[in-house]
Amino acid sequence: MYIIGIDLGGTNTDIGLLGDSGVVLARKNLKTGRYFDAQSLVNAMVEVITKLMFDNNIEKVSGIGIGVPCGNYYDGSIDDAANLNFRGKTPLKTMMEEQLNVPVVVTNDANAALYGEMIFGGAKGMEDVVMFTLGTGVGGAIATKGKILYGSDGFAGELGHSILFPNGRKCTCGNRGCLEAYASIRGIVQTCAEMLQQYPNNELARIPISELNPKTIADAAHNGNPVAIETYRRTGEWMGIAISNAVVFSSPQAIFITGGILKAGDLLIQPAKISFSKHKLYVYKNEIPILTSQLNENDAAILGAAALSNSKI
Ligand SMILES: [Zn+2]
Repeated sequence: MYIIGIDLGGTNTDIGLLGDSGVVLARKNLKTGRYFDAQSLVNAMVEVITKLMFDNNIEKVSGIGIGVPCGNYYDGSIDDAANLNFRGKTPLKTMMEEQLNVPVVVTNDANAALYGEMIFGGAKGMEDVVMFTLGTGVGGAIATKGKILYGSDGFAGELGHSILFPNGRKCTCGNRGCLEAYASIRGIVQTCAEMLQQYPNNELARIPISELNPKTIADAAHNGNPVAIETYRRTGEWMGIAISNAVVFSSPQAIFITGGILKAGDLLIQPAKISFSKHKLYVYKNEIPILTSQLNENDAAILGAAALSNSKI
């Protein structure tokens, strides 16, 4: 039995062909930003899936799981995703099923990443877990008693849009002060850029802002650059506050953080731990570790989406 798992993100769409045991047999990547309407993105995904199956001599897959920002598990649509080029309600499940005649399950990309972590990764055996995904946007997912929390309309767990600072930075969702405006790729670059205005002689100020990214900032931090270190310290501090807020919702056994930004490692995680222990409500006596994903950066969402396609959780 074969399954297709798709991680549809604002920047990249990773499409994986999986065997029974969750092994990624083959994968391909699309640049999501090149597609300005849903139909052309769907057509491109269908083409890739067909090619993956043909190249691997597979005639039939049992299901397709898609993790996507603002993906709605209940009706299989994408609802006004802030990080995609097309807005409104996109009936992704229906559009894919029309072309491929295979059952399709759609969920939020962070839910898929959390499910992947629980089935295949570091959260194996845990039932109460919170996941933050840091990338183009900031995603969130909450599992309670082994089930992903979807809420009344399918959108529970949008932790990236919990508000840290009223009247803070403008977020892609239209509100101000959301976690995403601070802990996404854009947020981290903005934190660094704002600080560089105060320290124009810092080495990083020589790099045009358009070329600054979390990796260049992390590299500078590892070389002792104080602005870069402080950028990650502040980001970690804000993450710690967001984590404390998330913990009061669901009292998890652990917090997982995943995404490309995590290559910064302890630059971000250590201040997040300090901030979390400072802000954590006293009633939570158990240690709630902050852990990074144990799955390959892009695999977690693919694996989770694929696993979701074969289960109703
Ligand atoms: Zn927001």
